[in-house]
Amino acid sequence: MFDNLSDKLDKAMHVLKGHGQITEVNVAETLKEIRRALVDADVNYKIAKDFTNTVKEKALGQDVLTALKPGQLMTKLVKDELTELMGGEAEGINLSGNPSVILMSGLQGSGKTTFSGKLANFLKNKKTKKPLLVACDVYRPAAIDQLHVVGDQIGVEVFSNKEEKDPVKISEAAIAHAKANGFNAVIIDTAGRLAVDQAMMNEIAAIHEAIKPQETLFVVDSMTGQDAVNTAKAFNDVLNFDGVILTKLDGDTRGGAALSIKTVVDKPIKFIGTGEKMEAIDVFYPSRMADRILGMGDVVSLVERAQEQFDEEEARKLQKKIAKNQFGFDDFLKQIQQIKKMGNMKDLIGMIPGAGKALKGLDIDDDAFKGIEAIIHSMTPDERTQPSIINSSRKKRISKGSGTSVQEVNQLLKQFNQMSKMMKMMQGGGGAKMMQMMNQ
Ligand code: GDP
Repeated sequence: MFDNLSDKLDKAMHVLKGHGQITEVNVAETLKEIRRALVDADVNYKIAKDFTNTVKEKALGQDVLTALKPGQLMTKLVKDELTELMGGEAEGINLSGNPSVILMSGLQGSGKTTFSGKLANFLKNKKTKKPLLVACDVYRPAAIDQLHVVGDQIGVEVFSNKEEKDPVKISEAAIAHAKANGFNAVIIDTAGRLAVDQAMMNEIAAIHEAIKPQETLFVVDSMTGQDAVNTAKAFNDVLNFDGVILTKLDGDTRGGAALSIKTVVDKPIKFIGTGEKMEAIDVFYPSRMADRILGMGDVVSLVERAQEQFDEEEARKLQKKIAKNQFGFDDFLKQIQQIKKMGNMKDLIGMIPGAGKALKGLDIDDDAFKGIEAIIHSMTPDERTQPSIINSSRKKRISKGSGTSVQEVNQLLKQFNQMSKMMKMMQGGGGAKMMQMMNQ
């Protein structure tokens, strides 16, 4: 995420390295680099210029904070300003009303349908909401089918009516259906066009006027940079929406949209989409994002993602198995699946402070567990529960079946053994024993 921008900001800070204090001259040079980094990231020139002017004023007026080295001071100032630029505080969505009606708007392909599903899943997981998805694209039957596929995937009902050609009527019928059937959140996915056009604007404005949603969200593809900002402006003029959803932040987005949108429409970014899967949704926290841009990682989000995937019941079962020495490859597979749900590896590693930079250039497979999973899938049920029976002929069979080498099978078995031993020791409160083993 924002790799290029992070790199360039890092280089800009280097200008100050070795300098004992901030001066007009070294600050000017650093800020020129920072401005260039922002413009290259597709941030509007005026926004970039205002940004560096503010940082300059603050930097030169800061002789009080002499405990900080110039590089550290500049990093702090830039972090504060980036946070401010992206909206300051995090803002949630308005879920008042029964049902709370959430209207989605945006261009075709921006990720509206995918995000509608993600949001429904997010609300469903919160347990206080029973969401209903509504398909309002009356032009593309495929879009209605797509929403049904998403709904099936996450176990959320989808309201649609292919016969009805008036999206206002569909929305109203959906809300009535929600009221009658105990749904307390209604997410309405609307039709988009490839570019802003009057008919689309009239249509979404009519739906907005008729149903008066608690929350109107504008979905935008972050890969579109400055275009994203212009589209946001057009939609905001008509809808006066409540918040922005930035999708596709997992790609090699330059960052311009995330950094400019708040200034242009004065509406907060509320969520971000970081992948095609239903779990790839994050609440947008400007300060955490600023940390990530500056290569400081985002441990808080990493822990939160882990917590979301953590199932207490499963954990208890697992603990029992470990205690009884019954932890097998099926359990291992489940663990891998949980980690995968947290997001793709590159994204997760980027959240660890310093790791993004250290591992830069390394080609990390999106599916780093592919080989391991293939090996486990090639094992028989008995081999999975009692790995000790895997002799050399079995190893050969497994390696053939999984398209890996015997060496890779051996390596996995060895790692699995070590892990089982470690888990057993942790169970017995044998921290000291474990340290001993690790030091061997
Ligand atoms: P809509 O036309 O606005 O409803 O857009 P869709 O929801 O159909 O999304 C368009 C394409 O973008 C689909 O292929 C989605 O899988 C993909 N997509 C949506 N959100 C994300 C995201 O956060 N990351 C990535 N990588 N792809 C996404």
